[in-house]
Amino acid sequence: MNYTSNPGKLALSKLHNPELLVRECYVGGEWVSGDGLKDVIDPGTLLSVFETAQCGVDIVDICIAHAEQSRSDWQSRLPVERGLILRKWAKLIRKNADDLAVIISVEQGKPLFESKGEVEYGASFLDWFAAEGERALGQSLPSHKPNMFTTNFAQPIGISLAITPWNFPLAMITRKAGAALAAGCPMIVKPAAETPLSASALAVLAAEAGIPGGVFQVIHGDASTLCAALLKHPEIRALSFTGSTRVGQILLEQAAGTVKRCSMELGGNAPFIVFEDANLEQAVQACMEAKFATSGQDCLAANRVYVHDNLHDEFVALLAGKIENLQVGYGLNVSTQIGPMTVAGTVIKCAEMVRDAVQEGAVIVTGETSKNDGGYFVTPLLLTGVTDDMKISREEIFAPIVSVLRFNDVCDVIQRANDTEMGLAAYVYTASMSTALWASEALEYGMVAVNAYSFTGPPLPFGGWKQSGLGREGSTLGINEYLENKNVSFGGICPHIPD
Ligand code: ADP
Repeated sequence: MNYTSNPGKLALSKLHNPELLVRECYVGGEWVSGDGLKDVIDPGTLLSVFETAQCGVDIVDICIAHAEQSRSDWQSRLPVERGLILRKWAKLIRKNADDLAVIISVEQGKPLFESKGEVEYGASFLDWFAAEGERALGQSLPSHKPNMFTTNFAQPIGISLAITPWNFPLAMITRKAGAALAAGCPMIVKPAAETPLSASALAVLAAEAGIPGGVFQVIHGDASTLCAALLKHPEIRALSFTGSTRVGQILLEQAAGTVKRCSMELGGNAPFIVFEDANLEQAVQACMEAKFATSGQDCLAANRVYVHDNLHDEFVALLAGKIENLQVGYGLNVSTQIGPMTVAGTVIKCAEMVRDAVQEGAVIVTGETSKNDGGYFVTPLLLTGVTDDMKISREEIFAPIVSVLRFNDVCDVIQRANDTEMGLAAYVYTASMSTALWASEALEYGMVAVNAYSFTGPPLPFGGWKQSGLGREGSTLGINEYLENKNVSFGGICPHIPD
């Protein structure tokens, strides 16, 4: 492709469906201009590619009024009807997949093939929850009293709020909205400021699919002001957040005032453990995938790679060879495997983390920290000699940096892997079923991948232990975040039978 000096802007101007590109916020079925505009920056060029309307705090009451107005109609529709609309939304997303992928790559930076994958991943949650809504079962319970019939109704919790991150600007919305809408709950979405365009494009397609205007709304503006105001509202009954643990903690405090149901997908610090009997080639390839997906900006990314002493040197040599072949570049270039970081802070944080690790004895096997090609680029880098107490092991790297630690003792490595406040995902490579089972049971993580990577999808409960989060998304559990239980007990059911 031949790009001008602003390739992102050019690509957006050439979308097959130009209607997907919108500046405004989507409120009550209308596109609302707000109080001003904010540039959308392409992290691969640092150039502005579009703008987004910035709404002030007065939009919050308006959004909630629209959600409230549409709530009873939406929740009273048959689940099968809501499901049909969700499936239509998924179909439209797939129909516009190429354009949506371009939008994602331009505003987020990820390689185009990954953006296409995200579009399909995002659509798959709508299909999944369309069906789950039809199976949102209550229960009939064995009564503990004579002549009583007792039940559990599962009913929509009410208006929900989604605060979504920039690393999966489309799929983190559909994973939440699919569950909420299937359950009968309107959702207000506040996407990350870095990636507003994917969210607005989803709203365009939601409207086309027939989702009522008050049922799915998207607002842009200052995150802390808008979210604080939204979370004060008693009408919002559920919050679903994906982002950092730091922000999650702030939101939990704000939600506590009105005791909202909170579902939190927070930070990770995934151990990737290569046991002595692992298939080396497979483990190396999996490490590449588990580390470099989304250019390392993934909460499931392998953060601490523990390799058994007997495999260490060979593993590192193979991994270094593969890392050196990675193509770093602009997201829309077809050869790109690693795109720019989405936010500037990552580049600075990476340089500091690597510098600190090297000062404490780590060794750079391949890669450099100083290269900058005009965007927020970080060259893939491999560090060995990393220890558990280094900052690079204690914190989530969220960048294409691999940090290798050694181990000798199988029990010790599990203890080291668990020695973190986080507990999202862990990876295990071993040829032994008993090691696999034992390690899976011992790891204090919400998701364990054994001889596997890239494992998430609609059927799996996505979520973490400890400070990695609360609740689960996807799977048969995800819809529960938007359902309230109501026990209804009927007395005098068999009046002809004496008590
Ligand atoms: P990351 O570290 O991945 O950037 P953040 O936790 O900073 O994740 O951001 C995730 C989401 O939270 C984004 O939509 C962002 O706009 C929003 N956000 C950030 N700070 C706040 C805040 N103080 N209150 C509410 N939302 C916030």
